[in-house]
Amino acid sequence: MGGHARRSAEWLIREFLPEATVNMDPRGVGARALGCLVAPVSAFVELMLPEECAACGATSGHAEWEPGGVRVAGLRPWDRPHLCCACAGGLFAEPCTRMLDADGCERLTIRAASPTSARLTRVVGTWKYHGVRGLAWPFARALAAAAHTDSLASGATAEPAPGSPPTLVAVPLHARRQRARGFNQAQMLAELAAPLLGLEVLRDALVRTRVTAQQARLTDAAARRQNLDGAFAASAPRADRRRALLVDDLVTAGATARAAAAALRAAGWEVSGVLALGLALARADGDDAGDADPTGGLFQP
Ligand SMILES: [Zn+2]
Repeated sequence: MGGHARRSAEWLIREFLPEATVNMDPRGVGARALGCLVAPVSAFVELMLPEECAACGATSGHAEWEPGGVRVAGLRPWDRPHLCCACAGGLFAEPCTRMLDADGCERLTIRAASPTSARLTRVVGTWKYHGVRGLAWPFARALAAAAHTDSLASGATAEPAPGSPPTLVAVPLHARRQRARGFNQAQMLAELAAPLLGLEVLRDALVRTRVTAQQARLTDAAARRQNLDGAFAASAPRADRRRALLVDDLVTAGATARAAAAALRAAGWEVSGVLALGLALARADGDDAGDADPTGGLFQP
């Protein structure tokens, strides 16, 4: 009952109204008026309905819940985690690592909280597309835990600044897509995971210069690469902060991660790897190396 009401209300609020604001100047009167309407309705729906697990559908009183956390940009006062402890444990039971060949560049190591499963994809979709933003809290904890088990905690040592920890850099959305969604999921993960990892987050180091088609919807490797050609631009790093650790939500073929890493490297960054929530371990379309490396090594030279 709660789930049905929530989905109906969400369909109205999050699918219809944000679409109407996509082409609107966010500073304009119309967009502000819509924002004033959406916020209280969302808050009302959220507070009136019981918390419901995005993975198993359990409702308040029938489960132990993942805790919330600090409210970084994009998290609203009425957001709740919406994930029960049992599902969080099941979703992120096995952190994994995979190496990508980077088109003649250096290889790229991807460390993820879990191999991507249909269940994880569905829960991440609820977070990104259906406004259940509080899932970011358990997601970020899983991300940080995966990084900790990959030698980050023992200290990174790589040239050109031995011992300097990497800076988290989120894979950006194009400004228009971010405005439509209301938040950048990778930035939210980076900002919530950063204090757990004792690392800093840099905003605006990397920008998406044009709107690209969704990678997941493109079937062949050439189309995926072409879609991202020149899609990212990076600013130069500070002399004392040259190492970047990319953060993304789900990594499939890895074309986005490679394009983002290439832009950072072209601007003078050293990219120590990618930290992701989910990772497709099987070769998605034959253009990735795809050899799983369960021993990790993301933060080592
Ligand atoms: Zn659950």
